[in-house]
Amino acid sequence: MMQVFLRWLPLLACLMASPAFALEKVTLQLKWTHAFQFAGYYAAQQQGYYRDAGLEVNIVEAAPDTDPVREVLEGKAQFGVGTSSLLLERAAGKPVVALAVIFQQSPYVIYARTDIRSPNDLKGRRMMLEPQSDELLAYLKKENIPLESLEQIAHSFDPQDMIHGRIDAISGYISNQPYYFAQARFPYQTFSPRSAGIDFYGDNLFTAEAELKDRPERVKAFRAASLRGWQYAKEHRDEVIGLIASRYSKQHTRDYLRFESDQMIPLLQPNLIEIGYMNPNRWRHIADTYADIGLLPRNFSLQGFLYDASKPDLTWFYRALLVALLLTALIGAVALYILRINRRLQRSLSELSAAQQALAKSEKHYRLLVENMRDVVWILDPNTLRFRYVSPSVERLRGYSAEEVMREPLDTGLTPEYAATMKRQIQLNMAEFLSGNDPDKVYVEEIRQPRKDGSSVWTEAIARFYRNEETGQVEIHGVTRDISERKAAQEEIQHMAMHDLLTGLPNRMLLNDRLQQALVAARRDEGRVALMFLDLDKFKQINDTLGHDVGDQLLQQAAARMQECVRESDTVARIGGDEFIVLLRAVVDAHDAMVVAEKIRAALNRPFELMPHKLAISCSIGIALYPEHGNDGIELSKHADIAMYQAKEHGRDNVRLFGHE
Ligand code: GH3
Ligand code: MG
Repeated sequence: MMQVFLRWLPLLACLMASPAFALEKVTLQLKWTHAFQFAGYYAAQQQGYYRDAGLEVNIVEAAPDTDPVREVLEGKAQFGVGTSSLLLERAAGKPVVALAVIFQQSPYVIYARTDIRSPNDLKGRRMMLEPQSDELLAYLKKENIPLESLEQIAHSFDPQDMIHGRIDAISGYISNQPYYFAQARFPYQTFSPRSAGIDFYGDNLFTAEAELKDRPERVKAFRAASLRGWQYAKEHRDEVIGLIASRYSKQHTRDYLRFESDQMIPLLQPNLIEIGYMNPNRWRHIADTYADIGLLPRNFSLQGFLYDASKPDLTWFYRALLVALLLTALIGAVALYILRINRRLQRSLSELSAAQQALAKSEKHYRLLVENMRDVVWILDPNTLRFRYVSPSVERLRGYSAEEVMREPLDTGLTPEYAATMKRQIQLNMAEFLSGNDPDKVYVEEIRQPRKDGSSVWTEAIARFYRNEETGQVEIHGVTRDISERKAAQEEIQHMAMHDLLTGLPNRMLLNDRLQQALVAARRDEGRVALMFLDLDKFKQINDTLGHDVGDQLLQQAAARMQECVRESDTVARIGGDEFIVLLRAVVDAHDAMVVAEKIRAALNRPFELMPHKLAISCSIGIALYPEHGNDGIELSKHADIAMYQAKEHGRDNVRLFGHE
């Protein structure tokens, strides 16, 4: 039998290596005609990433009436490129699953003629809004512009309609229309939903639930190869542009593709976020925004919609951790077992040289195991709270040698506030063990432990109680490991959820928390709180004339200056676009708040050095005070906002207190 098999083996290997046999055919349905917007997929194809994943991929561009969701659900394509509106499709009972977000920010904006100065001026104007531009609908709603107030015209996707004055405004991509506007030297305004705090994702990759269920490995492989392709496209932009121009797009010039890539690459936010990453909180924000405009029910569940690998890429970390823990437990158990055998050997066979040799050998084994592992194995006497055994690896973890640790009671290995809790916990756990209810119970505890050099280290101890059969005494056997990396990763994720990516300032969520705390404290102490709304003046012009990158740098520097003007207990938050909120705790009176506001205004008035530009800007600030102008966060925010608009109306570059003209 074996021989027959061996004879067939070369043939089998040959078949496996032949692409005709091995490659599976799948189709990727794009949502638009071939363009740089899909660069990663072409790169994955060209670089052979799909082939390496065992796939032969057919990349299909969209015709005007193609619906990628329908193509994928009907099985004509296995994968599709979608937008945030996938959520709506899902709510409509279409089982789609988002696999990865490619563009961390949406490129959708509204372009308008320059006489339209604010979204409000759109009322009564002729506008082309494309279907599925839900985020723009949400934006208009937020700006209080009912759709009925617009004269809507079917979207022609032709920038010339705008250039020749046939319409006043058009929805579009930041990577498309401006190219034609610039060619025609046509001046225009841009309105971005982000300025109203509506922050949708751009293109994503999706599949059908059935595909994911039946072919999870294929989905995983396709996703990974595509993301690899995006990484490549990001790093070899010119090469991929050449590829698109020569192989795919019949429609676009290299010059256009280069412009498109300049606009699109920043939306990947490649330096901040791993390509493909999906933040469940961002999806929640999108679902809530849809709920605001009545397109989704409130609290629409994301269950099943987000692909698992989209969790921050820590799965490998947890998996490795699990394997390491199992290994540690195994090594620990083996080590302890050998340790015990050693003792027995020592006692009963001490006279026999053969036994001595065995002892020496097993001791060597044991030492090799225990001394070379990073984790710390220990045995603690729960009555005296002293260690009976600690492996030498403790020195690498805490800087103290094993002897030093064994000389001291358990307390010294813990921070003072933790020692008391720990002692109590050990007493309780021991009582539980002695009751015999669950003698095999394993306890896991995260502990911050002091190190010899004065610093501290986050560790995780996994321990259980044993009764020493020889002595009859109860012992705790445990393994302690360094988990600083895991802790740091958790803290970073926590930080990202609460802060603005661009400036590092607290975001609206964190501000709301702090505002609630400040109000509770002020109510208790009969104190005052000031809430300041700040919006940069004419910031859009800077973006439009010098580019988004310069705008971003300016926002970062402005944020840093604002923070220098307040105390540590105060909060400066960025809540979207060029809007900031400053929360001042414990102000004595309105004058107090005005002084800080003027200080900020003056700080922002100082010119900014943004190589090679030197820029002067100003800002408008509105202030509302608790309790005079509102009892809760909502009322205070409303009033500070009104005051800010008054400041804008009074010629900008000034500070207004609510209720004071
Ligand atoms: P106003 O004096 O009326 O405030 O005029 P403005 O031009 O500042 O108008 P508004 O505050 O409505 O516009 C804010 C602009 O901020 C719109 C958009 O171009 C820009 N913007 C929003 N988010 C960002 C961002 O993250 N980075 C950059 N560079 N610009 C942004
Ligand atoms: Mg502004």
